[in-house]
Amino acid sequence: MVEPNHIYQYSIINALMAGVADSGIPVSQFTSKGNQGIGTFTKIQGELVLLDDKVYQLQASGSIRTAGPEEQLPYAVATQYEPQRTIRTPLKDKDDIDRVLEEFNDHAGNLFMSYRVDGRFKKLKARTVRGQEYEGQPLSELGSKQAVQEYEDIEGTIVGFRAPAAWQGFMVAGEHMHFIDRDRNVGGHLLELESDGEVEFGVAVVNNVHIELPTSEKFNAARMTTEDAGIKGIEG
Ligand SMILES: [Zn+2]
Repeated sequence: MVEPNHIYQYSIINALMAGVADSGIPVSQFTSKGNQGIGTFTKIQGELVLLDDKVYQLQASGSIRTAGPEEQLPYAVATQYEPQRTIRTPLKDKDDIDRVLEEFNDHAGNLFMSYRVDGRFKKLKARTVRGQEYEGQPLSELGSKQAVQEYEDIEGTIVGFRAPAAWQGFMVAGEHMHFIDRDRNVGGHLLELESDGEVEFGVAVVNNVHIELPTSEKFNAARMTTEDAGIKGIEG
């Protein structure tokens, strides 16, 4: 069926930046592409986590709901995640994630990585976007209105992807991580973390990427450029 550790992606970040977000791949189709992933919902309403075959919507109101099969996703990334290695490791902060990935494989600088981190975090900061206020509003404009939450001593899972720098605009270059807590009550796009214990860290290198582009009129009409600073501002 679906190949392990390939990346399937629907649409590209540049399209979200251009505000193309009113339709997309149905959840039921998306979950056939993998068991783990991240993304967003129509009108950029909150953050998506695909974990253990379930699609969660992390909403700006602070609560989490399970997405229905017909809901559409304007941008989403999935992989059939089968870790090539899982280790227990200290993880000081967000930058420390790169260290763990490099230790696992230092020849993947131009490849992709997918990973999952389970553990207890002393501090964790995550955000959820509030959604477009008008049709076609660019993602970059949503940064000032996102809901940022800080958690202390929280247990949960980070779903992450690392993309090479040259892929900026197609995906998010570097790390892109979404967090969901153990009880599936809170979460968001991961901004910062701090940990003083060990976490369980699983990694897989990915060298197959499939990108499906929307065929909608909105996608066709969008003027897309790669706004490096803009993407780092909202997705960094
Ligand atoms: Zn995100």
